[in-house]
Amino acid sequence: MGTIDANFAGETVVVTGGSSGIGRAVATGFGDAGATVINADVRAAPKDVDAETPTHEVIEERGGTAAFVETDVSEPSQIESVIEAARGFGGVDVMVNNAGVHRSLEFLDVAPADFEFVHGVNLGGAFFGTQLAAKDMIDRGVAGAIVNTSSTTAERAEWNHSHYAATKGGVQMLTRSAALELDRHGIRVNAVAPGPIATEIREGWAGEARSAIEESEGLPSRAGTPDDLPGAYLYLASDAASYVTGETVWVDGGASL
Ligand code: NAD
Repeated sequence: MGTIDANFAGETVVVTGGSSGIGRAVATGFGDAGATVINADVRAAPKDVDAETPTHEVIEERGGTAAFVETDVSEPSQIESVIEAARGFGGVDVMVNNAGVHRSLEFLDVAPADFEFVHGVNLGGAFFGTQLAAKDMIDRGVAGAIVNTSSTTAERAEWNHSHYAATKGGVQMLTRSAALELDRHGIRVNAVAPGPIATEIREGWAGEARSAIEESEGLPSRAGTPDDLPGAYLYLASDAASYVTGETVWVDGGASL
């Protein structure tokens, strides 16, 4: 089928959780599209031994411009620091709040510390990432775009995901609420809800384990890979989506059908 060429030349994109999995693919996608990319993550490189090169170096090797700012998104002051760092590259035009964690636990076993950890990163990181990026865009008079990473678990219950799913349901309503209030500033806020994607966050997805999980999840064709995701983020961040806000695009290969 046809292709769409994205062009983000001259724009600065912050991707949280850009060192691994979906965030790494999205950051690289924006880099390939000409954006200056800042990866805001607690670590620079993925844990995957086959891919130790930090994301910003991968983008630079491909001819792009990128930087890494060590950031824990559960600390709003650290999100402020990365947005300040982005000012050194002209200021954030696109904010991708993607950092996420999961602890696979049955509902009855979730301790307050598990709840707080997962909420602090997944929902707190997206909430203050959206709010602080928007404040900076408003200060600079930029009609930017924000894309949050939700999940199909925002609307579909799954075993061992209760606390995680609650954060993603929160991300979905955060996206709509912020879109409503930021529209008058020309700032659009959308989300992408990935289905099951083979990344570090999902235990047991490497190699042979994958086909077994595909079967148990009843996927229509195949499990997703990180490279299935950038297109949706690039679209939502671009002017092609200038009349799209508060929306969540599901990228799950039909798994939720
Ligand atoms: P991943 O583990 O490969 O990537 C998550 C990244 O977030 C890592 O680079 C990690 O270092 C970073 N991170 C963790 N805590 C952080 C913190 N406090 N501050 C900054 N960065 C932090 O997993 P992934 O699958 O690529 O996850 C990316 C996003 O996609 C997450 O929000 C996740 O919930 C969501 N998601 C994943 C799937 C899936 O099946 N993989 C499905 C739906 C949604």
